[in-house]
Formats: sequence, structure tokens, C-alpha cells
Amino acid sequence: MEMLKEESLKIYLWENRLKTFEGWPFDEDCSCTPENMAKAGFIHTPSENGPDVAMCFFCLKELEGWEPEDDPVKEHKSHSPSCHFISLKKKVEELTMEEFFKLQKERQKFTVNKACKDAITRFEEDAKERRANIIKTAMGEE
Ligand SMILES: [Zn+2]
Repeated sequence: MEMLKEESLKIYLWENRLKTFEGWPFDEDCSCTPENMAKAGFIHTPSENGPDVAMCFFCLKELEGWEPEDDPVKEHKSHSPSCHFISLKKKVEELTMEEFFKLQKERQKFTVNKACKDAITRFEEDAKERRANIIKTAMGEE
């Protein structure tokens, strides 16, 4: 089963999320240190224009524009209230097998949802381009 592959489960451990925070702009004397970010479920997903983009490994919510005093847990909860991971009452290591599988099932829903949304966005962009081309052709501006 895809969802039981070791790779996708490793990220449940905060130490593994912490490793992604290389080059994170906030380190000392602030709330959003790599440690706190990783504990709050985030992984570092920097882009060319956003060195401080972080994404929850579970709900896939991306947040950027961090300020030193931002509390990663609070930010996570307020921007993604439906995330099961950030609302967990126990540590992942303390969950029973059943609880863990239920959690992983919820995670899959977020993954599928995001994949669908991305596909729709790609489709719409493609359709827009085609429409523009058709109009151009119709107007004889080839
Ligand atoms: Zn989340």
C-alpha cells in the first residue's frame, strides 16, 4: 500500500522535518526557530522568491512571510484549523496503531485534495491559453 511506504511516514518525526530547515532565516532569539517550526508540523519548502516558505507535512498548508515573534503552532492552527496533526492531543509516538492509521487516512485526504486542486489549476491555465489562441486565430492574427 502506497500510504505505508516508509518514506512518507518518516516525516511524522519532527527530527526529520527539522533537517529540512537548512538556510531558514530565523534562528536565534525568536519564536519561529527551525526546532519550533518542525515541532509544529512544518517542513521548509523554499522557492526562488520565498526563502521562508514552510508547509505542513500533513495538511499541506503553505505559509510564508514569517516574523520572528510568530508562534508556529498558533499560526498553523489559525491558518489551517482543519489540520488533524496540529490538533493532536498526543505525540505521534504515543498514538495506538489504530489512531495512527486513522490519522494517516486523514492525511491522504489532504494529499488527494491538493493533487486535484493542482490539476484543476493546470487545466484552467491551459484552457485560458487555448482560448486566447483560438481568438487570435479567428481574428487572423496568426
Ligand atoms: Zn497542518
